[in-house]
Amino acid sequence: MGLSRRQKIIELLIDTDRPLSVEEMSAILHIDAETIKGDLPRIAEAMERKGYKMEIVPARCKKCGYKFEPSLHIPTKCPRCHSQWLEPPRFRLIKG
Ligand SMILES: [Zn+2]
Repeated sequence: MGLSRRQKIIELLIDTDRPLSVEEMSAILHIDAETIKGDLPRIAEAMERKGYKMEIVPARCKKCGYKFEPSLHIPTKCPRCHSQWLEPPRFRLIKG
């Protein structure tokens, strides 16, 4: 069961033509966003062994423009201005 859920996320992240946020993945796959957040690091690790790379478009603060470091961790607050108005990070799996 766990495997098939992760497999669906993996297939979506390979097939998508643009990087997706966790909320977008959640809406497309009908999988809880918190569950996807927990799966992302394991998916990235497993797929790296198969020759894929997790492309990360980093989060950005919509209030002050702060650019986060690329990370699989989903931030909830800007470290500079403490705003929660964030452009979420986006992900996709690319070969090579
Ligand atoms: Zn900010």
